[in-house]
Amino acid sequence: MAKYKTNMAPEKTPMPEQEPLVRNKNYSEVTLGYTVEMAMEEATRCLQCRHRPCVGGCPVNIAIPDFINHIVEGDFEGAYQTILLTNSLPAVCGRVCPQENQCELVCVRGIKGEPVGIGRLERFAADWHFSNVDELPEKPESNGRRVAIVGSGPSGLACAGDLARRGYEVTVYESLHVAGGVLMYGIPEFRLPKSLVQTEIDQLRALGVKIECDRVIGRIHSLDELFEEEGFEAVFIGSGAGLPSFMGIPGENLNQVYSANEFLTRVNLMQAWRWPDSATPVTIGKKVAVVGGGNVAMDAARSAKRLGADEVYIVYRRSEEELPARKEEVEHAREEGIIFRLLSNPLEITGNEEGWVTGMRCSRMELGEEDASGRRRPVPIPDSDFSLDLDTVIVAIGQSPNPLLRETTSDLKCQSWGGIIVDEETLKTSKDGVWAGGDAVTGAATVILAMGAGKKAAASIDAYLKGK
Ligand code: FAD
Ligand code: SF4
Ligand code: SF4
Repeated sequence: MAKYKTNMAPEKTPMPEQEPLVRNKNYSEVTLGYTVEMAMEEATRCLQCRHRPCVGGCPVNIAIPDFINHIVEGDFEGAYQTILLTNSLPAVCGRVCPQENQCELVCVRGIKGEPVGIGRLERFAADWHFSNVDELPEKPESNGRRVAIVGSGPSGLACAGDLARRGYEVTVYESLHVAGGVLMYGIPEFRLPKSLVQTEIDQLRALGVKIECDRVIGRIHSLDELFEEEGFEAVFIGSGAGLPSFMGIPGENLNQVYSANEFLTRVNLMQAWRWPDSATPVTIGKKVAVVGGGNVAMDAARSAKRLGADEVYIVYRRSEEELPARKEEVEHAREEGIIFRLLSNPLEITGNEEGWVTGMRCSRMELGEEDASGRRRPVPIPDSDFSLDLDTVIVAIGQSPNPLLRETTSDLKCQSWGGIIVDEETLKTSKDGVWAGGDAVTGAATVILAMGAGKKAAASIDAYLKGK
């Protein structure tokens, strides 16, 4: 039971954000976060339920009512420290977690109105900490045992943080020149400022985690060499799912067809959005179609708009209801002027004699019977083809794990689609001393699930090494 007077407002305390027609021309963060007053107002909407369903809805079981109670009491650092006990990247998760399907889905306040804004409060606590507390965590005493991590995305970073706190000497190998995985190269600045990701990574470095960038495992060292030559006792693979899928339709090799992965990497990691003040340009023209309906598609479309495109289409073969992107991202995209061509399926990308994109021919679709995934299958409507005039096509229909590690490791068992096979309880792979988690195991999923896997693997590696 709450010890404070509960705020019974049916809706969440609104969070200020940039105006749509202003923000679709800049790269600054769209949502501006709560002030202290707003956070306290929202925190008092929490009923402090005795059975705490929200905790079970969070994949890393943050003690949600406890951190919210700290906010009500004005103890913002206490709130941050409570979250940190189970989540090492709260500023990130407070921004990008699909809360509506997790903690907030089961919040009791959601029965007769909007749930408590748990994600917004988590973000507030983390932002308050970073603006008001300078201290970095102390490096724990070393136990002298060494663990290698492949990949510096959320799964690798979470695993590294938990092992470092237990005294292990952890080295993270990252193939790109910057650490952070999708948080740095995929999710755009206007949704997740890169300085924040950097601040969270600095906390891990302070714990003693070494991060070596430009190191592709499977090229500079094989997994076996990490044990035999580098002296590691265990390895965690958190190499993500960075291999883009394509549609296999005519015209996909034309100039100005990008995978969303390449496009977003150019824009975010290589900072093409700052061109000409950056080394990497990205040309898109005035009319852009993004094929797909997930978060990746929304990020690509909104980035294209910010780069100066007049017309940006989302082309998706199912209906609004099946759009896999977060609802908030779909709403933000619409407000910013993205045009949704739903129930539309690309048949061919057309080009001119010089090999440049000129358009895309699509078929209109309707929804038929349910398929194996439980969703209604899109079926083409006969003689319904239509064409879009385009300068650029961005394909955002999914990613799978990069084959490099499985091709260079004989005893690492993988699914036919590339996911590494692990024991569900321990996340141990078929190879001795090797664990795996995150998108490399599940295929493209979410930040918090990847982090949860990294933490689970850290506990399992610790138990294994202690017993060795
Ligand atoms: P990644 O973040 O992919 O990190 C893997 C890292 O391993 C990469 O840095 C890669 O360079 C490195 N690597 C790969 N192979 C090697 C190798 N051989 N040697 C060394 N390093 C290697 N999730 C959400 O929850 N909310 C969102 O709003 C959201 N938006 C997204 C938007 C985009 C554009 C994308 C692409 C994804 C989004 N996701 C979102 C999904 C989420 O980001 C991923 O599920 C999550 O990052 C997976 O974490 P990971 O640690 O498994 O892998
Ligand atoms: Fe909710 Fe995600 Fe935070 Fe967990 S990490 S409390 S699911 S926003
Ligand atoms: Fe508070 Fe909602 Fe959790 Fe109840 S379910 S404790 S109201 S956040």
